[in-house]
Amino acid sequence: MNYALIFKGHDFEYEIQAVAKIFIPRVRFQLCRENEITEAENQILTEYDKIQNLMRVEIVLHQKKYAVSAPACAEKAEQEFQLCQMLYTGLQKLTGYQPPWGMLTGIRPVRKILDKLGQGLTPEQACAELKQKYLISDKKLKLARDTALVQKAILPHSLKEIGLYISVPFCPTRCSYCSFVSHSVESAGNLIPEYVQKLCEEIKILGQLIQKYHLSVQTVYIGGGTPTAISAQQLMQVMQAVQKYIDISHIREYTVEAGRADTITEEKLTVIKTMNADRISVNPQTLQDSVLKEIGRNHTARQAVDAFLSARKLGFDNINMDVIAGLPSDDFAGFSDTLQKILALAPDSITVHTLTVKRAGTLYHDTQYQNTEISEVEKMAEYSAKILPESGYRPYYLYRQKNTLGNLENVGYARAGKENIYNILIMDDRQTILGAGCAASSKIITPDGNLTRIMNYKFPYEYIQRFEELMQKKQQIAQELEKLT
Ligand code: SF4
Repeated sequence: MNYALIFKGHDFEYEIQAVAKIFIPRVRFQLCRENEITEAENQILTEYDKIQNLMRVEIVLHQKKYAVSAPACAEKAEQEFQLCQMLYTGLQKLTGYQPPWGMLTGIRPVRKILDKLGQGLTPEQACAELKQKYLISDKKLKLARDTALVQKAILPHSLKEIGLYISVPFCPTRCSYCSFVSHSVESAGNLIPEYVQKLCEEIKILGQLIQKYHLSVQTVYIGGGTPTAISAQQLMQVMQAVQKYIDISHIREYTVEAGRADTITEEKLTVIKTMNADRISVNPQTLQDSVLKEIGRNHTARQAVDAFLSARKLGFDNINMDVIAGLPSDDFAGFSDTLQKILALAPDSITVHTLTVKRAGTLYHDTQYQNTEISEVEKMAEYSAKILPESGYRPYYLYRQKNTLGNLENVGYARAGKENIYNILIMDDRQTILGAGCAASSKIITPDGNLTRIMNYKFPYEYIQRFEELMQKKQQIAQELEKLT
């Protein structure tokens, strides 16, 4: 079926498309400007008629029709919002769908609440304003508000306090839904020794910059991929580089995303413990064996539970477990059973993701999967939002992504004092993060609030081959860091 978006007399294409995708996800719209002709069966026209000073929306969707017009607002930003709102109302009427986050298309709803609290509004006033403007449901507003209140106490920091991210982009096999830059050990394993060596060199260079500009590292996060996909010796090499070159005497949190159970061994956990990381993640995503098989993971639910118990036995007292709502072949019964089993293990934090179907993942092209009952996923998210707080886990971190099933969100829940500071700070976009490794980015926030992002090369072979060029880019990072002095 073909879908066209027709834009006339305005340049609000990005926002209009975002609103259309709330109701009509995962289709590629034909974009027609001004008088371009389209033969698409489904057409959405948005128009700013400057001569008559009118906003107009006309929709033909699955043979149903809707049309509305209204006098245009005076300011351009208001006009954009007005047209989006008119389109939202029309699509809601034609589809009967009530999006849980309303018209809000941004990825950081919590930031909107924090900004309003910063302007002196009470949490209730902040929620009322957002509800009126974006038509967000009460349940989602409560989730965002509760998250904002937990974050408020953790957020303050000085510009000189930074985070460090280290990327290990390898996994034992590739999960069917994965869209990260990650390579299976089978196909790219021969690159790992050189990758690790270069990574340690980059950590050294970042350590020199940190020292030169008198920065204080607050958080270290070794993520991926799956950092435990490399050998215990290679992991030790990376963590020794951190110990040797980075001053971590002021650190608040040191995370290693152990990730998949098929990579976690007692030897690797001992390395992590010995090198003083204090938080790990064991990410089963589901504890249903059939679903694990369906998504291409080579481990069982029992292995994930054993990995968790083994980490506890070694003395880890800050362990996160990740689950995903909406995995292929999973249903509400499977998801709730997974969550119950995880609660029985009593991890310190539980992160509930909603499946995102991205182009890079093989699921994107699976039409049968695209028909997954969205309401089932909504039930899973609602169940998490109820049962986790009841079990002593508070929401502390929340973000949304494009193409998430049911327009839902990812939420980190934690026991008080076990919130992942790095995750909060990276989403808040107000702290400098230096990144090492392929696909890592360095994000520098200057005193005037400007954010400069400097990307490393995306793939391991590129990272290795063009390492010298990459190190020249460190000059650019140095120039930005200079502004912090
Ligand atoms: S473990 Fe994560 S990074 Fe690795 S393949 Fe699976 S989804 Fe991708």
